[in-house]
Amino acid sequence: MSTRVTGRHTSTSRRFNAFEAVNAMFDRAADRLNMPDWLREILKTPFREVTVSVPVRMDSGKIHVYTGYRIQHNGARGPWKGGIRYHPEVDKDEVRALASLMTWKTALIDVPFGGAKGGVACDPMNMSMLELERLTRKFTARIAIVLGPQRDVPAPDMGTDGQVMAWLMDEYSSRRGYSPGVVTGKPVNVGGSRGRVTATAMGVLAATEAYYAAHNQTLAGKTCAIQGFGNVGSFTAKFWHEKGGKVVAVTDVKGGVYNKKGLDVPALWTYFNEKRTVAGFPGGEVMNNQDLFALDVDCLIPAALGDVITPNNAGTIKAPLIVEAANHPTMPEADEILHEKGIVVIPDILANAGGVTVSYFEWSQNLTQFYWDEEQVNKELDRKMRKGFHDVYELAKKEKTTMRTAAFMVALQRVGDAETQRGN
Ligand code: NAD
Repeated sequence: MSTRVTGRHTSTSRRFNAFEAVNAMFDRAADRLNMPDWLREILKTPFREVTVSVPVRMDSGKIHVYTGYRIQHNGARGPWKGGIRYHPEVDKDEVRALASLMTWKTALIDVPFGGAKGGVACDPMNMSMLELERLTRKFTARIAIVLGPQRDVPAPDMGTDGQVMAWLMDEYSSRRGYSPGVVTGKPVNVGGSRGRVTATAMGVLAATEAYYAAHNQTLAGKTCAIQGFGNVGSFTAKFWHEKGGKVVAVTDVKGGVYNKKGLDVPALWTYFNEKRTVAGFPGGEVMNNQDLFALDVDCLIPAALGDVITPNNAGTIKAPLIVEAANHPTMPEADEILHEKGIVVIPDILANAGGVTVSYFEWSQNLTQFYWDEEQVNKELDRKMRKGFHDVYELAKKEKTTMRTAAFMVALQRVGDAETQRGN
């Protein structure tokens, strides 16, 4: 029986979940590397999966029981590393898929970590700060046994931020003694790295600039549309604008805005800081999340949820370049459509690796207790991103394949070698 590789939001004959979708990309690269079956099985199978119940006393006085996950995918190259997501759609398959992507991302960008991911199915937008703190402390307490600076080091992801990381660090440290290296993405005051907040977006820009430079072009004057105006989307918009590009559209969960002459990004930031959304910004027309994907722009940047580029909308995309700032925004079947249309994709495990790169710098500063200035962080980040880009770009050219398959090939080779050398 032939199977079609699809994502969870389509209505096709055979639905692949997010983890299977990542493994479809894995197989494409493993085939090209002639990887033996036993090694494929080791590399595909998560090392450890922890599911916990997280009872939290809400402000109303009632107790709500949330479900939390921490999945450690592969640790052959170092401690497990990956974000913690607070979002209503968090489920085990998604966390597994994201944990696996972290294994490939850390290997590709060549930082000494494995891959993990965690999350709690909750709606942080509708929780008070005190509820979020109680949730974070209880979740930390329940997964603390598998965490540690030399074991597993979480970081922020969708719905979590530096404050959540500070609570996590405090809760863990109250059990094990001062342990800033147990988590990254902390505020600078409690052991965070300078440059971490902007790191993912800066990496997105470095990868995009490296792509344009490889084609004797620059980012100046290029138009882009961005889905998401959280940590990654907002700073990507800011830097795109500062580098002389035009951000013509931005959307978030509540709606969006479009101005074909280019949005006034500093004014959009001011508006967002007050309203906590880009919807209703007066400097343009109303834009929605579906129409954004079909805009005639030089570059499309998904920077919100996964599975947003689907077989249903891939055919409508006009941008010649997609830079995947979000994790797993493109379903495998949509990826094939993009490839057939000649649309170039800078894949997530490369494009958004700036976050984990500076997380590595933060962890290493925590272990040595010697702190870098922002200039040094940004310089080293830029160097790592451009090296990562060229590793992928050159291999894609040599192998006559997509940058996604090339990125997986680089990563699989490195993790496979580590796994084999450590022995089983
Ligand atoms: P965030 O929580 O700060 O922002 C998420 C954004 O997505 C918000 O603007 C929100 O309104 C928007 N959004 C949520 N649901 C939406 C929907 N249904 N339709 C449209 N927009 C929606 O998260 P973030 O840290 O900016 O992460 C964004 C993406 O980047 C995620 O896929 C995350 O995994 C990935 N990522 C983040 C980092 C990091 O360092 N923060 C690193 C690597 C990858």
